[in-house]
Amino acid sequence: MLIEAFQPLDAPVPDDLTVPQFFLDPYDHPLKPPRPDDVTLFIDGPTGQRVSWAEARQRTAALANGMHLQWEIKEDEAVCIFSPNHIDYLTVVWAIHRLGGVVSSSNPTYTTDELVHQLKITKVTTVFVHPAFLKTVRDACQKLGIPDDRIALISPAPPSHSHLSVNDLIAKGSQQKQSFVERRLSPGEAKKKLAFFVLSSGTTGPPKAVAIPHYSLIVNVIQIASHDILTPGIPPENKKTTPGSVMTGVLPFFHIYGLISNVHSMIFHAVPIVVHAKFAFQEFLDSIVRHRITHLMVVPPMIVLLCKHPLVKKYDLSHVRFLNSGAAPLSPELLGPLSEVLPNAIISQGYGMTETATAVTMTPITERMCKPGSAGHLVPGVKMRIVKEDGSLAKFGERGELIVYSPSNAIGYYGNDKATKETFIDGWVRTGDEVEYTESGDLYIVDRLKDLIKVRGFQVAPAELEGHLLDHPAVADVCVVPVPDEYSGELPFAFVVLHAEAAKRVSDPKEAAALKKALEKHVSDVKIKYKWLSGGIEFTDTIPKNASGKLLRRLLKDKAKQLRKEA
Ligand code: AMP
Repeated sequence: MLIEAFQPLDAPVPDDLTVPQFFLDPYDHPLKPPRPDDVTLFIDGPTGQRVSWAEARQRTAALANGMHLQWEIKEDEAVCIFSPNHIDYLTVVWAIHRLGGVVSSSNPTYTTDELVHQLKITKVTTVFVHPAFLKTVRDACQKLGIPDDRIALISPAPPSHSHLSVNDLIAKGSQQKQSFVERRLSPGEAKKKLAFFVLSSGTTGPPKAVAIPHYSLIVNVIQIASHDILTPGIPPENKKTTPGSVMTGVLPFFHIYGLISNVHSMIFHAVPIVVHAKFAFQEFLDSIVRHRITHLMVVPPMIVLLCKHPLVKKYDLSHVRFLNSGAAPLSPELLGPLSEVLPNAIISQGYGMTETATAVTMTPITERMCKPGSAGHLVPGVKMRIVKEDGSLAKFGERGELIVYSPSNAIGYYGNDKATKETFIDGWVRTGDEVEYTESGDLYIVDRLKDLIKVRGFQVAPAELEGHLLDHPAVADVCVVPVPDEYSGELPFAFVVLHAEAAKRVSDPKEAAALKKALEKHVSDVKIKYKWLSGGIEFTDTIPKNASGKLLRRLLKDKAKQLRKEA
């Protein structure tokens, strides 16, 4: 099946602006509501501290000046942000962009080795870090020879601290007149000029840096806005954002879903965002009530809690008007209970990936609730092909791999031509997702063909864990697959073939249990928690492979599911 754009993208899209010039500066766009300078842009969830548009602009300009005076950030230099969500997260992002730099956004709970990988592949020169995660950054920078004075803190530090903070740099930048020339783009340049590196393993292999230009964010937000505003026949009660809307900011800003759909999309609509550093369920519920949050962007595990956690009964959530689920499949069984918890909310689902930066489909704005299992309709401007195993195009209701063309598609994997050629083909992206498309325009994500495990919406690359497990002296061969889990969606499960000596030992159940523990520790010592082998470990004689040596993952996926059921 070839769909040449379900709906055209009729709104204008500037291709000569950077992200802050489009989102933060007073740039007029027909779909953008007015935003008086004193209106709130961010609210700090725990303290209630507010940042207005005018303050955000001033802080961004002063920080860019301070950074230029301190380090002279050069064109295309990569600066890493290693921090949970923070009220100054976007100040740092936009200041880097004003200087012509690229943001390498990272999960702050990465281990040192994981951060080293990111800093290396994105050629980072400078890091902004939350003080709680400073040790990881110092260790990683030391390993790579990044000087200590290229590390700055995103939130204020005690006066004795040796690292500069964002506030120090802002103070420095505001005391002196502007020393830098803001990066401006020529027509069309926004499609090439890089804004972000976000890690993704794509369809196979270890995590790679997806190269995302400024245009991707701008156009995807306009695609989402067109879907929300320009669709004909929207009932007034389905209008997505209205004055008084408030959005939760609990999804990580370093992930593409948080960065585009949650944050920049809402900034475009002038909806204030309540920033929380991490997801803690009671704090989340308190925040919805305290800040009268009307809009929720979440991942499926948060919906599981909303539907099943006893605490929810103590809260009146009737003012919530909109919820969107993304990053992983939303179980159809949750829709009924969810509509009881949020009786006045539109319940929507979106689908996308880092490589398509980001939303490809969304529930039609004319529907109050997504159809069970449907990821929605293509957003304006997206074309797609569904290709069956034999290479022919699928018909309605037939399964095949989704190949997507979106004007928001990223450029490729930075510094990795081979992987880029496999996934980015003439502007189209191979998603590695198996889908079905219906005559009503609904896209159903039915399975994942690619080697990717999604734990609470976070990516786990089997190749990364397999490579690491093979370093263990007892391991001869290994295959890591997902097993279903009610809360996390999926968990990593390892099939392990042992070397002869270790294989003999595990006939004793005590030895087998001890070796499983040792392998778990081998992973947990150097990998972030969601990559741990929480799904289980099974010792096996061989890993099934086809004639050309390719792992038959599907067989093992089914076996792991069965073993977990029996456990
Ligand atoms: P990421 O690049 O981390 O956003 O991961 C993208 C992948 O997450 C997609 O290729 C899908 O496999 C999965 N995904 C994202 N949204 C959905 C959804 N609504 N339903 C099912 N899978 C999804």
